[in-house]
Amino acid sequence: MIDFSLPADLEAERDRIRRFVIDKIVPYERDPRLTSHGPNDELRQELVELARAEKLLTIQAPTELGGRGLTHVEQAVLYEAAGWSTLGPVAMNCAAPDEGNMFLLSKVANAEQIDRYLMPVITGRQRSVFAMTEPDGAGSDPDQLATTATFDGENFTINGRKWLITGADGAKTWIIMARLAANPHLPEGPTLFLTDGDVPGIVIERTMNTMDRNYVGGHGVVRFDNLTLPREAVLGETGQALRYAQLRLAPARLTHCMRWLGAAERAQSIAVEHARTRTAFGKTIGEHEGVSFMLADNEIALHQCRLTIWHACWLMDQGHKARHESSMAKSFVSEELFQVADRCVQVLGGIGISDETVVEMIFRDMRAFRLYDGPTEVHKWAIGRKVLRR
Ligand SMILES: Cc1cc2nc3c(=O)[nH]c(=O)nc-3n(C[C@H](O)[C@H](O)[C@H](O)COP(=O)(O)OP(=O)(O)OC[C@H]3O[C@@H](n4cnc5c(N)ncnc54)[C@H](O)[C@@H]3O)c2cc1C
Repeated sequence: MIDFSLPADLEAERDRIRRFVIDKIVPYERDPRLTSHGPNDELRQELVELARAEKLLTIQAPTELGGRGLTHVEQAVLYEAAGWSTLGPVAMNCAAPDEGNMFLLSKVANAEQIDRYLMPVITGRQRSVFAMTEPDGAGSDPDQLATTATFDGENFTINGRKWLITGADGAKTWIIMARLAANPHLPEGPTLFLTDGDVPGIVIERTMNTMDRNYVGGHGVVRFDNLTLPREAVLGETGQALRYAQLRLAPARLTHCMRWLGAAERAQSIAVEHARTRTAFGKTIGEHEGVSFMLADNEIALHQCRLTIWHACWLMDQGHKARHESSMAKSFVSEELFQVADRCVQVLGGIGISDETVVEMIFRDMRAFRLYDGPTEVHKWAIGRKVLRR
């Protein structure tokens, strides 16, 4: 049986979150602390306290760690509501990269690591990073990982350079991917390390200037300069980093879809209102077929995206990995929602590219979605290979 109805309490919570974001969070969209490198930490902390007061902070965390242990479908419904403002997920502590990092740590970290590195992120007191991408190494192809770790039986020494590391400036919990060299003590290969951010050997060279500004702290260029970590810094088992990254990626790419769906709906609502009121050639622009078709295409795309997300989430809730479906969802939703945002800019006319409305920010922020957690082409390449193998 296929049942698309939502439980009444989930619908009520969705509506409460949407109201919270509209009433309490949207007013911050013009706050100067929302900088070209994203919301700064002071703004983030203020937003987090608003969500905490409403009991809406980190609701996705496992129940044993203080959250509500939401299912993937529940997340889809609630994150969409949070995404109405790009600051909504920041307030509710379900924005990237923290959301994916919390998920990964809750699955792989040991009890001591949970206390020291995960709990402060869950409680909204500190931020986290996932450092994998490299200028001359890992990117779409993680096998190109060039950052090295050597182990002398007691300590690891890490050297390498990363970029596009979201939130690097100011984050306290760091997950670092490096290739462990052959050694007589531990299995070699790509390995995840967990450390504090403010230790000698982690050098933040600069924060990159990018076209998006929805991630706290922006995106950093980072150097590991003989970063020395103890044996206890290994997250999970050595040589298993790519497996853990996959564990993080399938749900994380879906949560991006959920949040951006909410932002695209917001853009559509602004375009619809404009089409109802702006006139040209003797009638409202919405009465011109060219405009109504754009709004209709948006409506269709939003609906298709929601169903695609829900299906992948439902599969994961049934215990499936849903890698193929989440890959299809990520590539489809990122491309479709960007088209939605683009059509909203078009309906708005010249003001569409100005900051008179939030559509311009959504359009710019959403562009990056087609790249991270796997560029569209890489997902289609993987989907195509699976199709050909069948
Ligand atoms: C906003 C943002 C935030 C990010 N945050 C983080 C972060 O916190 N931590 C982190 O480690 N990384 C982060 N990244 C990096 C992100 O994961 C990479 O950008 C992504 O993996 C792609 O790698 P790349 O940029 O090196 O592109 P490349 O690997 O150089 O690929 C460039 C292009 O080549 C094409 N291509 C590559 N492979 C194939 C293929 N098999 N078939 C067809 N075409 C292909 C695609 O069009 C792709 O866009 C972030 C990126 C962005 C944009």
